[in-house]
Amino acid sequence: MSRADFPIFNAHPELIYLDSAATTQKPQAVVDALSSFYSKSYATVHRGVYPMGERATELYEGARAYVAEFLGAKSADEVVFLRNATEALNLVAEAWGRPNLGPKDRIVTTIMEHHSNFLPWQRLARQTGAELVVLPVTGNGQLDMEAARRELQAGASVLAVTMVSNVLGTVNPIACLAAMAHAQGAVVVVDGAQAVAHRPVNVTQMEADFFVFSGHKAYAPTGIGVLWGRSELLAQMEPFLVGGEMVNSVSLKKTTFLDPPHRFEAGTPAVAEAIALKGALEYIKNIGFDSILGQEAALLELLLTGLGQIPGVSILGPEGHLREGLVSFLMDGVHPHDISGFLGEKGIAVRAGFHCAQPLHEALGIPATVRASIGIYNTEDDVRTFLRGLEDARALFTGERQWTTSTASR
Ligand code: PMP
Repeated sequence: MSRADFPIFNAHPELIYLDSAATTQKPQAVVDALSSFYSKSYATVHRGVYPMGERATELYEGARAYVAEFLGAKSADEVVFLRNATEALNLVAEAWGRPNLGPKDRIVTTIMEHHSNFLPWQRLARQTGAELVVLPVTGNGQLDMEAARRELQAGASVLAVTMVSNVLGTVNPIACLAAMAHAQGAVVVVDGAQAVAHRPVNVTQMEADFFVFSGHKAYAPTGIGVLWGRSELLAQMEPFLVGGEMVNSVSLKKTTFLDPPHRFEAGTPAVAEAIALKGALEYIKNIGFDSILGQEAALLELLLTGLGQIPGVSILGPEGHLREGLVSFLMDGVHPHDISGFLGEKGIAVRAGFHCAQPLHEALGIPATVRASIGIYNTEDDVRTFLRGLEDARALFTGERQWTTSTASR
């Protein structure tokens, strides 16, 4: 795996990109997949009975089969192509949740959810009268498993939970949560947006009922996302959007819809992006999760150790517990936006804000954080340069310069 695979770093050789949790850069293989489809085989799918249309359909359906295999799904028919994780979560809430939930139901979610896995459920609860139960995190930034056990045992119709927190980096024990939720007959919805590019996912083993992710956080283009759903559930669901592509027959009296997954893909789909998503997942698979996990863990360690040595920095998220290569932190006396602006000027991209997780920031009593997140192209040098930049930011904004190891070795 290498920075050289990513053309953005040819255009910007000095760029230190530590914002992969927001979106990842694209390897040449993905740019090539897009370009090759548009320049050599472009047509839309499921319509043309001419060779190029048939080829496009073959590539698009081939991408679906590859995603199914990548996720450990039982069948390609369980994979729905959508725009992103947000659309997929809204689809689950509207097409499965709305007809199945009412005032007696409890929707269990967590305080660490991204707005995409919180707002669809909050709105549904408000409109159907279902109760929304929000599980807290412990002081260490892990999901409070005691609360999870207690609340799930009290009854749950749905558990909507993220696999990895985009703020805390916490990796949640999905299989264990799914077992507790299933004991109550709940449907388990897993937000895998922060997981897919970083750790192996097997939807069958984790016993999820729905699993979603966005291609753009996994080295694929924007505009393509995935909903995986258990076939029995998808089969019972009405379409979310209606229009072209997803119908069997339409007449003034009666309309019938296609079976899943096409029932949920109204309109012309993101054909090129789906094909390039396959290219991105192949790129990940070729590198291998052993190697990705090893490299990201080493960089995370360097990041955590370095941050720990900078006075006034406090790190969010679990210590000594499984966590993803993303770290949100605060620096005493310096606003997160000032830090990210200062680093940005130096060509170091990190994110500041509440990362679409306002309820979590509210619960923690902090307005915003800075987040540095690791991708497949990052190096130890990236992390060291970032840490030095942070020390400079501290010196500038607090007027203090501490003589730390990394300052001394510069
Ligand atoms: N869930 C999580 C955990 C995320 O980090 C994000 C993106 N920040 C999303 C969902 C939403 O992804 P998208 O904007 O691609 O729909």
